[in-house]
Amino acid sequence: MPIRPEARWHYPIDWPQISQRVRFKITGPHGAGRCWKCGRPHGREVKILADGRWFDSDQGTWRDDNGQPAPWPDIVEACRIRHSRIVLATCHLDHDPQNNKLKNLRAWCQRCHLNHDRAQHRLQYRITIMLRRALGDLFLGPYRRW
Ligand SMILES: [Zn+2]
Repeated sequence: MPIRPEARWHYPIDWPQISQRVRFKITGPHGAGRCWKCGRPHGREVKILADGRWFDSDQGTWRDDNGQPAPWPDIVEACRIRHSRIVLATCHLDHDPQNNKLKNLRAWCQRCHLNHDRAQHRLQYRITIMLRRALGDLFLGPYRRW
């Protein structure tokens, strides 16, 4: 996930090197260069089902969100297969970009990263809406609900 420009200075100057090391040098539970949670490989396009199962072409099996073998899809599910290119990102477990201890960092794919940050994103969304309403109140009078 790209870093917002206003948050860039919360990250250390060597963040690209730290992120590179976590994603590709440190071996996670599923190997280096793979998501530490679900095992999806970086840079590869994988088949994905709506419930999060994905096809591991190296092992020739379907896997669940935790990287464990999962049942094959039935014909209805197979008709809804999507293809997605996996991009690993380094994630802070505590959402604090200044806490860069290795035990606070994880290399996760976009799905696992978004699932982990969901509550934080909802909070940020609410703050953004409140700020926009406050700006509207400042220049256009009190915000009216319809
Ligand atoms: Zn993942």
